[in-house]
Amino acid sequence: MIYLDNAATTPLLPEVVTSMSDSLTLTFGNPSSIHGLGRQASHVVRQVRETVARALAVNSRNILFTSGASEANNQALIGYALANKAKGNHIITTAIEHPSVLNTVQYLHDRYGFDVTFVKPKADGSFPASLIEEQLRADTILVSMMWANNETGQLLPVTEVGKLLVNHQAAYHVDATQVLGKIPVHPEEVGADFLSASAHKFHGPKGVGLLYFNEKLRFDALIHGGEQEEKRRAGTENIHSLVGMATALEFAIEHMDENYKKVELLHKTLLEELNSDAAPLTFYKNQFGKSMPHVLNIAFPHENHDLLLTKLDLAGFAISTGSACTAGTIEPSHVLEAIYGSGSEKLKENIRISFSELNTIDEIKKFAEHLKLILKK
Ligand code: PMP
Repeated sequence: MIYLDNAATTPLLPEVVTSMSDSLTLTFGNPSSIHGLGRQASHVVRQVRETVARALAVNSRNILFTSGASEANNQALIGYALANKAKGNHIITTAIEHPSVLNTVQYLHDRYGFDVTFVKPKADGSFPASLIEEQLRADTILVSMMWANNETGQLLPVTEVGKLLVNHQAAYHVDATQVLGKIPVHPEEVGADFLSASAHKFHGPKGVGLLYFNEKLRFDALIHGGEQEEKRRAGTENIHSLVGMATALEFAIEHMDENYKKVELLHKTLLEELNSDAAPLTFYKNQFGKSMPHVLNIAFPHENHDLLLTKLDLAGFAISTGSACTAGTIEPSHVLEAIYGSGSEKLKENIRISFSELNTIDEIKKFAEHLKLILKK
């Protein structure tokens, strides 16, 4: 199987597997225990926090470990909104967020009466910061925006929005899940008060992630119980996964430039192969301005994407149509729907090919060759 679905998840690096398996056997103590094994485990958790903090250029006391970006998003949005309801009732997000943001703010609306604005991109798919600015109100307490979109790779104006909020009371949450480990991510530079990410998007394990938080802000915990994570998240720490996340993040940061260039080359090569003179294909790109190179969202007019996906799967290629988060069901992309409208035929055509530096040029050429064969049959 040739794996080209790296925006959904990435394979573990061998070094990550080794560090995790060592941790499973060696640091199995409970970090809350007072004895030597407990202290050793607690030391490991502290080291991971420092590694993550270094990667984000923040203080380690501003890092909260979570079970992934979904929990980090829920924690930031629910935790902040509930603790700060007295300051205002308005939340702004975009219509193209991941469901872990969209459904969470919808919950805040349905259950707690928050007034939520879902900002749509412009008709051409672009998303200038002015779209957020136009919606800001005196009672806005929270703005949540993703750094890069998981279906199209589109980069959103996170720094510009951060600047807009400097003199506004609203807290700023950034979902950096598709960018951490791929480009420099420094929450304080973009003015983020909260920033979420998930380890399995950068060759770490699933079920572990992080939330950067601005300690000056008050937010409620989601999980109550013991005193772990400074009482912000109860439960015995998932040490081996934390260790895996730290190893993966260290590798990603160390090789960031070369990995970025490699992924750019893979992206470019695929487009060249599809456009090659010998047998060019007719396709359009779902690209809306500056984008991350690890995602390529393209479409073949009148080709149903479900069928194409199945044929590619049978031929040994793993790609997707967009988000993998609707649990096996293929629903029209809410991201493309926000741009093209709900009745658009284009919602049946998109496929997402997503790369990592572990892919090879040879794999890309094979993929292009099979795609052409399938489409020309
Ligand atoms: N946000 C974005 C932008 C994502 O791409 C994803 C994963 N598809 C998530 C949040 C959720 O991550 P996880 O499933 O690891 O909680």
